[in-house]
Amino acid sequence: MERFFPYDSFRPLQRELAAAILDGFRSGRVVLANAPTGLGKTAAALAAALAYAEEVEAKVLYLVRTKNEVLQPLSELARLRARGVEVRYAFLRNKQDMCCYGELRGLPYAEFLAECRYLRGLGKCRYYPPKPFEPEAPMAPRSFVKAACGAGTCAYESAKALALWADVVVATYFYAFSPRAEQWMDLGRSILIVDEAHSLPDAVASINSVSVTEAEVRRAKADAERYGMREAAAYLHKAQRALRELRAGPLSVGDALSLFDEPGQIERAAVEVVRLKADEGSTPYSPLVAISEFLKTLREGGRYMVLAEQSEEGLRLRAVPYDVSRIVSGVLSSAKAAALMSGSLPVDLFLKAVPLQRPPRVFDVPLDKYIGRGNFLAVVDRSVTSKYSARGEEMYKAMARRIAAAVSRRPEARSRSSPATTCLKPSGSTSRSTYRSTWRPGTPS
Ligand code: SF4
Repeated sequence: MERFFPYDSFRPLQRELAAAILDGFRSGRVVLANAPTGLGKTAAALAAALAYAEEVEAKVLYLVRTKNEVLQPLSELARLRARGVEVRYAFLRNKQDMCCYGELRGLPYAEFLAECRYLRGLGKCRYYPPKPFEPEAPMAPRSFVKAACGAGTCAYESAKALALWADVVVATYFYAFSPRAEQWMDLGRSILIVDEAHSLPDAVASINSVSVTEAEVRRAKADAERYGMREAAAYLHKAQRALRELRAGPLSVGDALSLFDEPGQIERAAVEVVRLKADEGSTPYSPLVAISEFLKTLREGGRYMVLAEQSEEGLRLRAVPYDVSRIVSGVLSSAKAAALMSGSLPVDLFLKAVPLQRPPRVFDVPLDKYIGRGNFLAVVDRSVTSKYSARGEEMYKAMARRIAAAVSRRPEARSRSSPATTCLKPSGSTSRSTYRSTWRPGTPS
């Protein structure tokens, strides 16, 4: 295991964490690791996973929640290679981020997918089919996209090809937890490391949800009328009226489907309208596609429940998986081995939400076991939140001010905080490095 560790020495408890993960893998148990930021979970988990991968000839799939979180494991892997350890690694972000056409990156995702499908289907994408692209050494995501596109090949397709033979693939949750992900990853031969696992159930629910809004139904009806799909337009008109009268709350899949009367007509209209739009040279996307996807998902069977909720686009129907825990446990039990890590994982609660087939191997280090009491300052500020919908310049400034105030309370102490870069950017002179220090556990404060 030490061979796959990218530093000269372990931090306190870091070796124990790596050993616990390796022990869990060897005993066939899922590992739940809760340990504070700064302990070095990423490097420890990679060392354990690579050691086990060598023993059982498997590959490592390191899963992160957001596209930016791929950077940390990639930098640990780069460090390992710099120490002479031959480990082949690749990364996967979503297709739109890696598209060579900069102008397509700004489209809503569904429209982007339709455009990409169309360009490929008609042979109009300059970068598709992909050409062989094998950089001499692994590259950071941005450089990789630039280099692949510069070599005339689709960066996403190239990354997928590299991921097939890599020892470690760093990817977003989507690639393991969505049925829509292309099934190229053989989970039975993969060792999973799931980072930020406290957010896994919510993220999996969101990855597997589909929705449609009143505004989309209105736009879809307009498209159906414009392209002469009279029957579909009539069904959508009826659905629009029914949605206007519907109250927020849960409804059954059958009731949601019955709002659209003839889903088959709408699905056929979606295909036809996209074809006609492509023929006339406009973006080959219609909201009919979103409604069609929504209806197809509901017709797949009883795995979903539907929630009607208010949104800026009028009433939204959102189909969410009935049982997220089944999706999570299904993936974990199909994998060769799995470790779930977090800096704030309530282990007992997590186990209630996601029952596992066997008792897990738990490694739980509360913050006050890692940093002596009196040697840290906890700040709770209810006026700031990292909730996605509340993010914005003012919120980031408020967070930056709060962190600065906390640091100034203890001028003699060193501070380590890890806000997102975007959080500190708007505060002008305040840079992320201002708050980062060389502090390590055990250093007197
Ligand atoms: S094939 Fe690749 S480069 Fe072409 S449109 Fe799709 S994502 Fe973009």
